[in-house]
Amino acid sequence: MKVYKEQPNPIFKSGLNKKLIKDFNRINPKSIEAEFREFGVNANFNNNAPLAGCFALSVNILGEIAARYHLPFNFPPPEIRVYNPNELITPLRARGFCISDTKQVIKGEAPFVGTSVFMEKSTESINYINFRRDLEYFFRVCSSPHFLADTLHELFHSIQCSIVYSKEGYDGACPVLRKLYTAQSANGTAKLDEISNIKYSKKEIMEIRKYLGNYAANTHNALEVFAETMTKITALSLNQKLEPIKNPMDNLKSAPKFIKKLIEETFSL
Ligand SMILES: [Zn+2]
Repeated sequence: MKVYKEQPNPIFKSGLNKKLIKDFNRINPKSIEAEFREFGVNANFNNNAPLAGCFALSVNILGEIAARYHLPFNFPPPEIRVYNPNELITPLRARGFCISDTKQVIKGEAPFVGTSVFMEKSTESINYINFRRDLEYFFRVCSSPHFLADTLHELFHSIQCSIVYSKEGYDGACPVLRKLYTAQSANGTAKLDEISNIKYSKKEIMEIRKYLGNYAANTHNALEVFAETMTKITALSLNQKLEPIKNPMDNLKSAPKFIKKLIEETFSL
């Protein structure tokens, strides 16, 4: 499998405690963008410190898990963009999204590289992001109460695309991805369509609702089931200092069988 040569270095080391909240208050989004650039990631955080910090932490955590447990999590997206809703070409109700292929997303800007990740600008603090996530988890919207869940979720969409393109090849219109993923068969975009078109039975939708919450259940989309499951099992493998202390895949044991199969099949493609 083709992976990025560069491993992201840890930028932060602590959990969401007083120290980290202080760290978030000191974050300079521009310097985090510069660090991402060193690893080949073109990041624009729109001057938003909480999201710059969340993305830096999430990418670091995934890089550490990749190294420690030999999982293909070390695919930083080619571009990360924090946007104001009115900048989007197509209005969206979601807080974030990932594009599987190259796409014009922001008014007046060139198309982004496929597998790039986007997140709506949040003017609030990391405390608010944490509080909002706790509340959503309490009301069974999402699969994890972790304050990094939003960024992890979008990064896992990007990782899933990268895994599929690595194995199946990339046959879309993005010149950057064409150079990156050169497998012989080149039907990665069809494979992603196939996954997103998996049909779930009523019973399975109920199980998704119970295991992952209403968001994943309501989308009826296996790509969302993948991202929500990976977010849940990854967050569960972190300690209070945000260090991975367990292989996330071990947390899959409590997942419904068909979800376990979806995850395992993606990684064994
Ligand atoms: Zn999603």
